[in-house]
Amino acid sequence: MASLPVRWSALLLAATVTASCNSDEAAGRPRVVATTGMIGDVARALAGERLFVTTLLGPGVDPHLYRPNRDDVARALAADLVLHNGLHLEGRMGDTLRDLARSTPPSGAQRRNNGGPRVIAFAEALEGESEPRLALLSGDGHGDRNADPHVWMDPLRWARCAELLAPAIVELVPASERDAARHEVFSSTLPNFRATAEALVRFGDACFATIPERARVLVTAHDAFRYLGDRFGLEVVGLQGISTESEAGVRHIEELVDLVVERRIPAVFAESSVPDRALRALVEGARARGHSVELGRELFSDAMGDPGTAQGTYFGMIEHNIIRITRGLGGRVPGGSFAVWRSAQEGVRFDPLAPLEPQPSALAPFTSDSVGTSDSVGTSDSVGTSDSVGHAPRPAITSEAGR
Ligand SMILES: [Zn+2]
Repeated sequence: MASLPVRWSALLLAATVTASCNSDEAAGRPRVVATTGMIGDVARALAGERLFVTTLLGPGVDPHLYRPNRDDVARALAADLVLHNGLHLEGRMGDTLRDLARSTPPSGAQRRNNGGPRVIAFAEALEGESEPRLALLSGDGHGDRNADPHVWMDPLRWARCAELLAPAIVELVPASERDAARHEVFSSTLPNFRATAEALVRFGDACFATIPERARVLVTAHDAFRYLGDRFGLEVVGLQGISTESEAGVRHIEELVDLVVERRIPAVFAESSVPDRALRALVEGARARGHSVELGRELFSDAMGDPGTAQGTYFGMIEHNIIRITRGLGGRVPGGSFAVWRSAQEGVRFDPLAPLEPQPSALAPFTSDSVGTSDSVGTSDSVGTSDSVGHAPRPAITSEAGR
């Protein structure tokens, strides 16, 4: 049961000690701490080697239930920038994030020596979104005031969040490298990120179109896939609500058994970060009615796969989900993978594990107040080139916690 939330104020000393211990690894670079892997992946793509990016929540960790420990708080306090999803995703980190934000000076540029890091809620950036197809969805699908936090499930919304974050990343880069970083981020990294997101959506559309229409229903352990359903036109049903916090949120299994049996849905899907008890009950219920439904292999909902695997990257995680869902529901995957499909369709190479290669750009240098950076360490980025260059990112900054 509940331990008290760790408060940063009690841990300032620990943070100082930790900061000095980590100095070798960070090698003097400004530090970014992200809560989820999906956010860390974007930050790494934008920052390249210029910033030291780490994440708090590893594979299989449920952000709804995670409580920060002392080491997490120390790392966050020692950072220059803390990125969390917001929209109440990190339900039990709320106190810690609020305390960090309270210690935040008005401008990220002056933050050091003035208390804590700058704190930005990555997905809350979409709260002011005017493009309806990129806007946040309501938490219950029926106008609930609280927005659904699982924004990363839509590659286009996630790309928008990346564009909105970019200025804050660039701003953190040391002044001597900032112009170069800004140029790379806005003329190469972001256009490539968006082009890959758009290609992945076309790939998903091509995959899902092969699923028999009656079976285009995604049943999962909790309601993490509504943005995916919105983008790709799939019906989605979660046994628990948008948080995994409460077992009481388990919906009437019987209703879902009816749905699965009547629509002859061939599979329901477990998630890597959520227990599958309720799904097993659903499968048993359907079996008792004479319909065999497979408990499909895991999807990645609120956490990515293992580092060093394709599923341990943002785009690789989404591709994995698209392929598993398509095959589980009786469709087929054109080309067998996003990389093969994209290469055939667009002549663009894609390797989720390859560093982003800066591309010569057709864009005019972007002149916002932001900054950004460079090559990419590891992951999410794509490679790619831009079939769709030209979505000029808005220079506006994301919302910040504690304002
Ligand atoms: Zn969730």
